[in-house]
Parts: sequence; C-alpha cells; structure tokens
Amino acid sequence: MGRVVLSGGAGFIGSHLSRALLDRGDAVVCVDNLLTGSTANIADLEGRSDFEFLKHDVIIPFEVDGPVDAVMHFASPASPADFARIPLEILSVGSNGTRNMLDLAVQHRARFMVASTSEVYGDPLVHPQPETYWGNVNTIGPRSVYDEAKRFGEAITMAYHRVHALDVRILRIFNTYGTAMRPDDGRAVSNLLVQAIRGEPLTVYGDGSQTRSFCYVEDEVRGILALLDCDYVGPVNIGNPNEFTILELAQNVIEATGSQSPIEFLPLPQDDPMQRKPDITLAKRILGWEPTIQLPEGLARTAAYFRERLDAPSPPG
Ligand code: NAD
Ligand code: UDP
Repeated sequence: MGRVVLSGGAGFIGSHLSRALLDRGDAVVCVDNLLTGSTANIADLEGRSDFEFLKHDVIIPFEVDGPVDAVMHFASPASPADFARIPLEILSVGSNGTRNMLDLAVQHRARFMVASTSEVYGDPLVHPQPETYWGNVNTIGPRSVYDEAKRFGEAITMAYHRVHALDVRILRIFNTYGTAMRPDDGRAVSNLLVQAIRGEPLTVYGDGSQTRSFCYVEDEVRGILALLDCDYVGPVNIGNPNEFTILELAQNVIEATGSQSPIEFLPLPQDDPMQRKPDITLAKRILGWEPTIQLPEGLARTAAYFRERLDAPSPPG
C-alpha cells in the first residue's frame, strides 16, 4: 500500500487505473487538466478520503505535499483524431509534462512509470513487435507529434534513471479499448461501436486490411500494475497479441451489437501503420501476465457501456 500520483487519471485508462489502485489499498492523487478526460469518469471516486483530484496541466511544474511512493505519467491525448487538432499540446505533455513528472518522482524518491505506446514502432517493418525493435517512424508526418513525444518520453525516463538513479518503468501500451472511452474519441473501436449502435454506416479507412491487436482495459490495467510492482527497468509491451484486420473488427462490432449498419470505405489517413501486434514474451516471462478477455466479450461489454451513455435501447433478446 502506498500513495500514487497519477497524471491523466480522469481519462479512459487513467480512470480504470485510479480505481484499480484504490481497490488494492493505494491512495491516489489524480492530476488531470481534463483536456480529453472527464470528471464523469471518476465521479464515483470523488469524496473518498484516499482519492484526491487536482485539476492541473502537468506541463506546468507542481508539487505534492506528503509522501509519494509512485509517480505514474499517463497524461496525453492518444487518439489519432487529436494529432492534427492539438499537436502542440501533445508535444508539450510528452516532453515538458514527462520532465515535470520525473522531477516530482526525484523529489520524493518515488518509483516512476511512463505510459509509452506501440506508436514508438511507427509503421513497423518487424512483425510482431518485440521491445528490441527500434521502429519505423516518419519524424515529420502527422503522427510524429505523438510518436516522437512518446519516444522522447522514453529517452528522458532512461536519462533520469542513469543521472538520478531513479527507479523507472516504461510501459508500451497497444490499442486498448473498453468502458470510459469517449464516444467521439475518433478511435476505431469507439467510432465503429457508436456508429453501429446509432445505425449509421461503419467507417473503415482504406480497404480495412491494416491490422491492430485490441486489449480490453481490464487486462491492460492488470498488466500495468504487475509492471509497476516488478523490478524490471526497460520497455515492456502490454497488449493483446490477437491480431485483426480493421474489416474483421467492423464485422465483430456488427456481431456484438446486432447492427444492420453497412460498411463505408473512406480514405486511409497518411502514415497509418499497416500492421501491429505485440510480442508479449517479455511480459509473460517477467510478470506472468497475459490477457484473458477476447474481442467478442470486450466489445459486448463496451457496447453495453456506449448504449447506456448514448441512451440507446438494448438490442432485442
Ligand atoms: P485519454 O485521452 O482518455 O486520457 C488522457 C488523459 O490525460 C485525459 O484525462 C486528459 O485530460 C489528460 N491530459 C492530457 N494532457 C494533459 C496535461 N497537459 N495535463 C494534465 N492532464 C492531461 O487517453 P487514454 O487512451 O486513456 O490514454 C492514456 C495514456 O495511455 C496516454 O499517455 C496514452 O498515450 C497512452 N496510450 C493509450 C493507448 C490506448 O489504446 N488507449 C495506447 C497507447 C498508449
Ligand atoms: N480506423 C478506421 N475507422 C475509424 C477509425 C479508425 O478504419 O473510424 C482505422 C485507422 O485508420 C487505423 C485503425 O483503424 O488503421 C486503428 O485506428 P485507431 O485510431 O483506433 O488507433 P491507431 O492504432 O491508429 O492509433
């Protein structure tokens, strides 16, 4: 049991992580500027004596009174739809924001974890992607604001480890989905589920042959906590290795929702990675972790959440 400062704690993954930390007896200081998160995600936690919410932009340095055992940096917009909308905010939270969170960890001699991403592999030429692959990123393309900010985040984290002997963890998250996603977030799972529930056409970009490997948020959070608790310094992939084309994802969404929606093909965004699948050999070995919730079940749970949020009727039967 300890006290954890978590940036981005009012976001999709962060709100689940806040709850999981509290459930196991940790106290949480959730720091979030609500850029892409919402207090609705943490409404059930507010008022608890072991949960504090601090509305703050982590690109501005800040201090936390009292003991801090771990600092977890999860603040960052993460949807490709945001890369063009708020590119400078993304670069700032990945660079200055990471540095401020690292300084906080140094001050308190706390363990530090940075939420990195499969995007550090760019449009990967090695498949599946092990942690040892250095990636294939277009440094000036539309995704670079996110990819390079995250790569910088990993670099500065290792520099703090070397310079300040800080105890660090680097988490590489692969496509994660589940309850608490924003319906208008712009990512594939939320877009397709919301479209299916509303009876609108399902937008598949390109011919839908590009692949992703989708991890349900409950599995992801279990992996994150296992990584936080272990003593491994260096990047670790946490994701579900079951790979689907986006067309297969759309078909799974139609099955999960019973929707009659047609599929509409739209242009593929620039630099969209053609394939992605985590090699989780390392996570299995050092954490004994692997995901257990597969796509049909995860989609059904997420569809139920969106139906409630959108006030849409449940399907017959
Ligand atoms: P999200 O947008 O739901 O959550 C991000 C949170 O960070 C939001 O609550 C937002 O308000 C907050 N935030 C953004 N900028 C901030 C700032 N400057 N100061 C304080 N708070 C700020 O996204 P998410 O999907 O939950 O992602 C959480 C983390 O996981 C991010 O770091 C993201 O890059 C990483 N990640 C997510 C995925 C995924 O599939 N969801 C994949 C790879 C990496
Ligand atoms: N995508 C799609 N339709 C959508 C949203 C996304 O076909 O409405 C595609 C997108 O082009 C990408 C994949 O689905 O190939 C995953 O996109 P997402 O934004 O979820 O995450 P990414 O892995 O690209 O960061």
